[in-house]
Amino acid sequence: MSEQDTGKEVGRAAAAVQGEQAVPSMPEAMVGDVVAGQLVELGPGVRRLTAPNPGMMTGPGTNCYLVGTDEVVVVDPGPDDEGHVDALVEAGAGRIRWIALTHTHVDHWPATPALKERTGAEVVAFVAKDGLEVDRTLADGDEVGGLTAVHTPGHASNHICFWDAGRRLLFTGDHVMSGSTVVIAPPDGDMAAYLASLEKVRALRPAALAPAHGPLLTDPDAYLEHYITHRLAREAAVADALAAAGPAGADTEALVKAVYVDVHELLHPVARFSVWAHLRKLTADGRATGADVDDPDTTWVAIP
Ligand SMILES: [Zn+2]
Repeated sequence: MSEQDTGKEVGRAAAAVQGEQAVPSMPEAMVGDVVAGQLVELGPGVRRLTAPNPGMMTGPGTNCYLVGTDEVVVVDPGPDDEGHVDALVEAGAGRIRWIALTHTHVDHWPATPALKERTGAEVVAFVAKDGLEVDRTLADGDEVGGLTAVHTPGHASNHICFWDAGRRLLFTGDHVMSGSTVVIAPPDGDMAAYLASLEKVRALRPAALAPAHGPLLTDPDAYLEHYITHRLAREAAVADALAAAGPAGADTEALVKAVYVDVHELLHPVARFSVWAHLRKLTADGRATGADVDDPDTTWVAIP
């Protein structure tokens, strides 16, 4: 399956089912409402403008952050919508110096060329792809406008978070979302990398997380712990279902049915990506084999 097909299928499946992504018993972490088109001051020098692209995959819309006072970095300018770009330019008041992308999924970067054109800002990202052109690539630990890039592969291989050490605030992109889990769609999505990246940002001990979708998260440690626990519980359930299939093994589809018994079938196409991502991780961990780990329809067998 090509990456493009993967993306389409995720989109279709997600369009069918918002509820899938809601994590049960998520700690109370919502702070205020997020409304498309609204510019909100989160603190001195940190503002959030939510783009007018609400939807199943984007929640209330993509959050674009303006960070800084005299010189402003825009984190994830969002979709190429004229009114939205106007609003960013107005909010920037001639001070936008950098446009920083967390990753290159289509709800995060397409406003970049228009915003660059109108501000002359420098465009930075970890690895430019999916159509984005950058002026500078950032490595893990590089700085832009007072923010430090933290490479966090998992949701996307080129994903970075931006760490504001002074405020102990982490701009998470799609690494962490408010009130929902994140889609990990192989081959670009990688569950093992994702879990390691969750631990990596947890070790920063942030005071708050500013996600690209949904409100600010003000209890990062509990939230990240819940995220990690939830993923490991799913991984254990997938491993158990695979072991129960015996030496004949099972395909991804059968394991989705076995693991997601409590979830409506409409959600299974999205769940299939997660299960496939878990199976690839189990294989890498030496706990399963798959004839072709790049093919979700391959037969998987547990290694006892
Ligand atoms: Zn994304």
